[in-house]
Amino acid sequence: MFAILSIIVLLIGAGPVQGSATEPDPFIVVLGIAQDAGYPQAGCKRECCAAAWGDPARRRHVSCLAIVDPHTHQRWIIDATPDIRAQLRMLDALEPPTGTPGLAGILLTHGHIGHYTGLMFLGHESIGAKGVPVYAMPRMREFLAGNGPWEQLVRHGNIKLQPLTADTRVKLNERIAVTPLRVPHREEYTEVVGFRIAGPKRSVLFIPDIDKWDRWHSRIEDLIAAVDVAYLDGTFYADGEIPSRDMSQIPHPFISESMKRFATLPAEERAKIRFIHLNHTNPALDPDSTAARTVRSAGFAVANELERTPL
Ligand SMILES: [Zn+2]
Ligand SMILES: [Zn+2]
Ligand SMILES: [Zn+2]
Repeated sequence: MFAILSIIVLLIGAGPVQGSATEPDPFIVVLGIAQDAGYPQAGCKRECCAAAWGDPARRRHVSCLAIVDPHTHQRWIIDATPDIRAQLRMLDALEPPTGTPGLAGILLTHGHIGHYTGLMFLGHESIGAKGVPVYAMPRMREFLAGNGPWEQLVRHGNIKLQPLTADTRVKLNERIAVTPLRVPHREEYTEVVGFRIAGPKRSVLFIPDIDKWDRWHSRIEDLIAAVDVAYLDGTFYADGEIPSRDMSQIPHPFISESMKRFATLPAEERAKIRFIHLNHTNPALDPDSTAARTVRSAGFAVANELERTPL
């Protein structure tokens, strides 16, 4: 069943992009949907990961979006995850790289392991990249420039740090711009941002990590209204999901809470919402689970790897 679903998603994802034949629209493609630690998770011998250990088709990469402009052949990724090796490969299959790694830039959300440690593969033990632009907020840039092994990437010129300022648009090329949005989330080392990505026709919101919607200065519903697709924090499905931990210490909007909050939105607004960044304990990782069915029947979706949104 799951294999069939994957094929359907692939077929939809591989459909023609909108726009003229001479200038195809840029698009967003999902390269991963799991929480920082991936799925299955290291050391997990519990039921949540058993099927995924047994069947590689059930595994999921760490949450990551790519922005692709097939007209200019440019590619950017939002977050450098521990799964960057596989994710660059996925990207190469969609839009062949010019050079290695063939990235016009990497945009970083924050300094938690799933979101930046993939940078290590740009260093001389691996790709030995030359001058890949890495867009980051001020504390994130300081963190990278001031701590090994990351500072070595800066010193050797593998990466070139580029500034981001909250709420300030950065033009990636003539057709694509991104805006970082500060969000409340544990800031041990760095600020935390999500991104709004705008193309010539459409825009996408990406908020992979946030404490709770009501702890944010922005009203999430207003941001959803202003975009075409919203990839939102779906780390946990419901409270009590990790019995061994006090879940108030690792706050995220539970999918069950988000569905309740967004229940009164019109159907076309709910249809924009696609949950991403799922923890290994999240039952909605299995498309056949009751949790995943509940998400779908409420008019929302769980993000799928390789799904595309034209910009
Ligand atoms: Zn995360
Ligand atoms: Zn598990
Ligand atoms: Zn985080």
